[in-house]
Amino acid sequence: MKTALVLGAGGFIGSHLVRRLKSEGFWVRGVDRKYPEFSRSAADEFVLADLKNPALVQKIWIPGADEVYQLAAEMGGAGFLFTGEHDAEVMHDSALINLNVLDQCTRQPVKKIFYASSACIYPKYNQDNPETPDCSEDSAYPADPDSEYGWEKLFSERLYQAYSRNFGLHVRIARFHNVYGPEGAWIGGREKAPAAICRKVAQAESGEFVEIWGDGKQTRSFLYIDDCLDGIRAVMDSASGTPLNIGSEEMISIGDFTRMIIEISGKNLLIRHTNGPQGVRGRNSDNRLVTRQTGWTPRFSLKNGITQTYNWVAAQVSALQPAP
Ligand code: NAD
Repeated sequence: MKTALVLGAGGFIGSHLVRRLKSEGFWVRGVDRKYPEFSRSAADEFVLADLKNPALVQKIWIPGADEVYQLAAEMGGAGFLFTGEHDAEVMHDSALINLNVLDQCTRQPVKKIFYASSACIYPKYNQDNPETPDCSEDSAYPADPDSEYGWEKLFSERLYQAYSRNFGLHVRIARFHNVYGPEGAWIGGREKAPAAICRKVAQAESGEFVEIWGDGKQTRSFLYIDDCLDGIRAVMDSASGTPLNIGSEEMISIGDFTRMIIEISGKNLLIRHTNGPQGVRGRNSDNRLVTRQTGWTPRFSLKNGITQTYNWVAAQVSALQPAP
């Protein structure tokens, strides 16, 4: 039986990934500082540990593991990452986790390791126009990410590649673009745009306003969790050691995205624009390289994925409301 170690297994993507690996027949150890919030972990073993502590990283390690997935990071949506308030924590803690993990790879070697990077590494100057953002893998340099979160991801990509060159470590790196779906953070400050908008729509009564940050003309693409899992597995199984995008190419403005969610809700709602952290003006995945190298391409339309996500968030919102 193949063994997998999933770091960040209590998080959104990590908890789904554990389920996927179990369904594929892996023996899985999940590690996180917290348990998954919305369902019981499917891992054979789940260990609570702070990966900033090198002694704990050594303890939870599986020497000779077939596959390690490193997803643990200080993570959140624009309200967490782009205000500047958490910059030191994001850079320090996530870098420390990656330094500890790679150090352990040299002490107790494993067969292969996957690192979750982000579209936030791409330079701001290629994402100023909402109609024509460039996020091809080779556009990453000269580097100019618009957040410290992006700079840490870029540093860590380079760190994994350096360990690959100097220690012969088999490394796979993916740059995720806005992953969403059921069981993602939807309240509390770390939620990302899709879940946040679903929540605002689910909480509003017909005739009320839904607030969105900015003028709504900023563009993004959003990747459904099941597509992300397929992408992770395809990148892990591929021979590619260089970073690859895992994202959707279905770009949409935040205004149109909000209107799509309002339509799914069946409510009659209005949109009000407010000031708030927004990130770059435009972003879209460029999947040419990843499809060529791995054959992976997303299967879910935004409409399909966000309908499932809206229904899940709406159920969470109803569960929070006191019974009449
Ligand atoms: P998430 O916040 O749900 O999961 C990250 C997990 O890491 C959390 O459960 C958290 O508790 C854990 N963690 C953080 N610090 C830790 C520590 N010191 N010790 C142990 N565990 C710790 O985020 P996610 O959306 O599941 O993202 C997974 C990975 O993918 C992250 O590295 C993130 O940066 C990356 N990523 C995600 C997206 C996205 O759209 N969700 C986009 C780009 C990149």
